[in-house]
Amino acid sequence: MSYDLEWVELPEAVAEARSRYESCTTRTAGGLPCDHVPECSKSYFSLAEPFQFHLNISGMGACRDGMRRAGMTYQAEHRPFPAWPFKDIKDWLAADQARRDAFDAAERAASAQTVPGKAGIPEFKLLSNGPWLVGAAEIAQALDRYEEAPAGVRAELEADGLWRDWLEWLRETAVRGGFTVS
Ligand SMILES: [Zn+2]
Repeated sequence: MSYDLEWVELPEAVAEARSRYESCTTRTAGGLPCDHVPECSKSYFSLAEPFQFHLNISGMGACRDGMRRAGMTYQAEHRPFPAWPFKDIKDWLAADQARRDAFDAAERAASAQTVPGKAGIPEFKLLSNGPWLVGAAEIAQALDRYEEAPAGVRAELEADGLWRDWLEWLRETAVRGGFTVS
């Protein structure tokens, strides 16, 4: 398992490539080919690359540990995701746009969920491929907590290159609407 993280608010051209890729992925899952030139997946992956962060299991584990030590995350149970209300991809493709939009909105709300009264990033968003959405406010709270963490803890964490990259990622995405985890 690995974790693919991406800015929520992508530059316009990249966001367009992503939405073309997403709708084409649905079509291809329904049996239709991607006959676009260049291929939707290729243009999306190459354009989005500068706005992504990839972690393997141990890398994400190290970031989670560091965040926990610095008080940037909290542990909680998450609410379940909405059940897929369609029979199959064909049913989804044939469904009313309003019905599809309603499902997308419900799924997005589940992805973005936080626990009222808690500050920082819920750890469950960094424990599975969700898909999760870590919002800008959660990241800002986590970074505030980091500033308040003991200098010794920060110095120890910042001796590690992965942690420095992770901090940079948090600072960058805090002003880009946050990041997705899939
Ligand atoms: Zn396509």
